[in-house]
Amino acid sequence: MAEDEIERIPGVGEATAEKLREAGFTDIMSIAVSSPQTLAELCEIGQAQAQKIIVAARKMAEIGGFETGDVILEKRKKVGRLTTGSKQLDAIMGGGFETQAITELFGEFGSGKTQIAHQCAVNVQLSEDVGGLSGETIMIDTENTFRPERIIQMATALDLEPAQALKKIHVARAYNSNHQMLLMEKVNEIAKEHNVRLLIVDSLTAHFRAEYIGRGALAERQQQLNKHMHELLRFGDVHNAVILVTNQVSARPDVFFGDPTKPIGGNIVAHTSTFRIYLRKSKGNKRIARLIDSPNLPEAEAVFSVTEDGVRDD
Ligand code: ADP
Ligand code: MG
Repeated sequence: MAEDEIERIPGVGEATAEKLREAGFTDIMSIAVSSPQTLAELCEIGQAQAQKIIVAARKMAEIGGFETGDVILEKRKKVGRLTTGSKQLDAIMGGGFETQAITELFGEFGSGKTQIAHQCAVNVQLSEDVGGLSGETIMIDTENTFRPERIIQMATALDLEPAQALKKIHVARAYNSNHQMLLMEKVNEIAKEHNVRLLIVDSLTAHFRAEYIGRGALAERQQQLNKHMHELLRFGDVHNAVILVTNQVSARPDVFFGDPTKPIGGNIVAHTSTFRIYLRKSKGNKRIARLIDSPNLPEAEAVFSVTEDGVRDD
């Protein structure tokens, strides 16, 4: 639905539409699934008005219906898998990173998040019989860590023509969290002309963490992140693409495995990611990946290494 469509909701005039947009409610669905309290608070309108707007939005939105298990199984059969370059890491993921899902790599600085992202941007170009998806990559780079030189190394190691490999990776720098979210429009445009099967956001959370500071900003941050992640997920569904996001955390094992009331990266990221992989450094170039959260796979660990050729088994 187009952005100006929120004006079509009965009871939403120009002024209200402006308030809604400023609060991040840019389409009918986002309003339909909101609660009157949240809408009233964030848009500074009365609860009764908020309630009316939500009811109207729900009538207009395609909320979606129920599907039987066999239909969902058919959809699941379309799920593709992307090799990481390490058979061990692929194995704990059930054969590679899944399309139509968000895989979150989280770990401290230098744990290999960006290396895996680069490797996947090359691997996705391979044909399906060797673990690729014969597709292209879009990368939203928030930390200025994309390195074409690294792509050249990795492509060469796989006998891909480096210049061709680089042409299939579309990179945009995001200068702040707002820009990061705005880039999603561009992402959708590029995907109309290119067979994009991998969307990377490296780092998903860095800008949000830096910009929304203090207790008062938390709700707003989570709301924006939630919206962003659902746009990513939608992209994965529509294009049958792998969504790979990174999330830097400082090394505090007590928080990861102990007190569950202190989630890293916020609840929203944890709950919206389909797969969460915790990365940590080991000896030398070895890295340990632990699958933390998955709808259908057991918790498991894999050891891989980061070499000049890229991500490999150790
Ligand atoms: P982060 O989790 O912070 O994104 P990175 O994925 O950037 O971490 O990992 C950085 C590490 O990758 C470096 O410390 C280095 O060990 C390894 N690395 C980077 N480039 C190369 C290369 N050309 N050859 C071998 N190892 C590399
Ligand atoms: Mg990085």
